[in-house]
Amino acid sequence: MTQDLASHDLDFIRTIIANDQKSGKHGGRLATRFPPEPNGFLHIGHAKSICLNFGVAQEYGGTCNLRFDDTNPEKESQVYIDAIQTDVRWLGFQWQDRVLYTSDYFEQLYQYALVLIQKGLAYVCDLNAEQMRQYRGTLTQPGQDSPFRYRDCAENMNLFQRMRAGEFAEGSRVLRAKIDMSSPNMNMRDPTLYRIRQVAHHQTGRSWPIYPTYDFSHPLSDALEGITHSLCTLEFEDHRPLYDWLIHALSPLAQPRQIEFSRLELEYTLMSKRKLNQLVSSGVVSGWDDPRMPTIAGLRRRGYTPESIREFCARIGITKSLGMVEMALLEGSLRDHLESTAPRALAVLQPLRVVIDTLPEGYLEEISAPLHPQNPQMGSRMLPFTRELYIEQEDFCENPPKQFKRLVPGEEVRLRHGYVIRCEQVIKDPQSGAILELRCSHDPSTLGMNPQGRKVKGVIHWVSATQHATADIHLYEPLFTQANPEAAGGEFTDHLNPQSLTILPNCPVEFSLAQATLGSRYQFERLGYFYLDPVVSRAGERFIFNRSVSLRDTWAKIENRQRA
Ligand code: ATP
Ligand code: MG
Repeated sequence: MTQDLASHDLDFIRTIIANDQKSGKHGGRLATRFPPEPNGFLHIGHAKSICLNFGVAQEYGGTCNLRFDDTNPEKESQVYIDAIQTDVRWLGFQWQDRVLYTSDYFEQLYQYALVLIQKGLAYVCDLNAEQMRQYRGTLTQPGQDSPFRYRDCAENMNLFQRMRAGEFAEGSRVLRAKIDMSSPNMNMRDPTLYRIRQVAHHQTGRSWPIYPTYDFSHPLSDALEGITHSLCTLEFEDHRPLYDWLIHALSPLAQPRQIEFSRLELEYTLMSKRKLNQLVSSGVVSGWDDPRMPTIAGLRRRGYTPESIREFCARIGITKSLGMVEMALLEGSLRDHLESTAPRALAVLQPLRVVIDTLPEGYLEEISAPLHPQNPQMGSRMLPFTRELYIEQEDFCENPPKQFKRLVPGEEVRLRHGYVIRCEQVIKDPQSGAILELRCSHDPSTLGMNPQGRKVKGVIHWVSATQHATADIHLYEPLFTQANPEAAGGEFTDHLNPQSLTILPNCPVEFSLAQATLGSRYQFERLGYFYLDPVVSRAGERFIFNRSVSLRDTWAKIENRQRA
């Protein structure tokens, strides 16, 4: 793997942390948290946040909590809670103690709300949603005070306690902070702290008819956990004054510091959980873990390794600058990892039959081939060489262009790890003219070596037509045809790529793969890196290999096609 850039050049957040540790701020402690909302599976953007939060905790001897930000019970579920834990662990990280939930603090948060009311810093407001919007003003116009803003403390206490007791209908009133309706920052115009919602919660059941907002619960949860650095994405920059206001209003509390960085945006896909959910529920993809999805579970099934995703996150770094990252960067990280670690194998995607007439019927020779060209320690496997073989259709050409380096009539080519063969005859369907098979001869003196003086144009891969295993091979293209499907006009679903999945059934793959374990990775020579999908394959029965990534960067080609 290439070197981890982040550990050499400190990004701006690591610089802040290093300085805070030097100056003894927070008593030299470092505590971070990763706070997903359990309303979907994690995606590659979350991986950036995970690698940052858990990564700095590891690097600076701190701790990182996994805290489910579970204040929207209608959209959340245990399925997501379980999937998120699986994905964080799979990425190679472990949280402090047990899993935490914002709902662990519901009682404490409620008590804080009562304190704010007593201090005259919060009030119960009976405006409905539409009126709230009108009173709120706009970016260019200040808001107006709610007529309920000057309720006295006793009345606010009474109403809020009755909200908590479940006496009022949903939407009939909210608790708001009393800050400044003319603030240029809309988040400071008396933001909502609690809403009435008569819904069951996956952790707390029916015990709460009111739920705190993210803006209220997040800073206080951070403070309760003794978080020192609350790292989040840039869209929360405008919420920071409110974050600090709440910490200050309820002091003495621990003093977490919110620091924002830019979110990951990746070309040809999207990161919004709401939109990813839409793809899942409409059946465009087979599930959250469909290998085309940018989710951690999807990337895992595609064949990504945790190492390659961590490396990708290190390569993109942490900054405040916006911009889309090219898919090639993600794929390059995987290629770099698999190049040195994946055993090699032979497989044929579009078979063309070859008969070696210089071999007798029933001929079988076992050729030993190394599993990795540069790493003999990985060992070797046996390739059965027989009279009938398959090669790739595109490795033969009857009327070749000048640059063609593979098999042509009357010429020679080397079979990978095997003999030099010559094409003697092309057998065609008399009706259609389609090529049915090639009759070839082989030179028995050429096994595994390249005799001097012999000019062989190329080397091609092959599989025995009689001694092989069979697998369905899934090839992938990007899920979208536009680099930024959310900004390309129309609905994002208008830009789905109809060719994002190609299934090649019953492909011959080399004999040794009959023993492959589900979840293993191979380089199919000349074709790419493939992953034996453990979700849909059945050991010994049905093999499905997903192409994780091709051998070379093909993005330039896709870009050209877009332009054309
Ligand atoms: P989404 O838009 O996918 O729903 P979200 O921000 O609502 O994202 P959360 O579950 O709240 O999702 O995210 C948990 C943490 O992950 C937050 O701290 C958030 O800032 C971070 N995060 C989410 N998306 C990205 C991204 N694309 N790049 C970096 N960090 C992200
Ligand atoms: Mg969120």
